[in-house]
Amino acid sequence: MATIFNKIIDREIPADIVYETDTVIAFKDVNPVASTHILIIPKKNIPTLNDINIKDTQVLAELLLVTTKIAKQMNVDKEGYRIVINCNKNAGQTVYHLHLHLIGGRKLNWPPG
Ligand code: 5GP
Repeated sequence: MATIFNKIIDREIPADIVYETDTVIAFKDVNPVASTHILIIPKKNIPTLNDINIKDTQVLAELLLVTTKIAKQMNVDKEGYRIVINCNKNAGQTVYHLHLHLIGGRKLNWPPG
């Protein structure tokens, strides 16, 4: 099912895009929880982490590689950052298109809430 993120991929709504390849795209979260808060998503529709399969191995690897590139680009790689994937309602997933949150620029609490 299409989500708001498909509209960002298709440029139907604006987003602050920081990185893009043929298969993934990354943009600033509209409601950031830290000075660096980027969403990295596959262009393919994958609703939740539960929906990945072996055919997605390449794109999943690319999501992580792109994340490390953006962490460097945003200058949070040395100080540190966190990657979050919320899966379904108990984790607070609100957009049902797989996405990695890259959060950095401040000290992050552990365990998360
Ligand atoms: P989730 O709660 O599903 O893990 O994360 C969804 C994230 O998408 C939230 O942090 C929310 O702020 C962000 N988000 C929702 N709609 C939009 C939008 O239209 N544009 C951007 N850039 N971020 C969005």
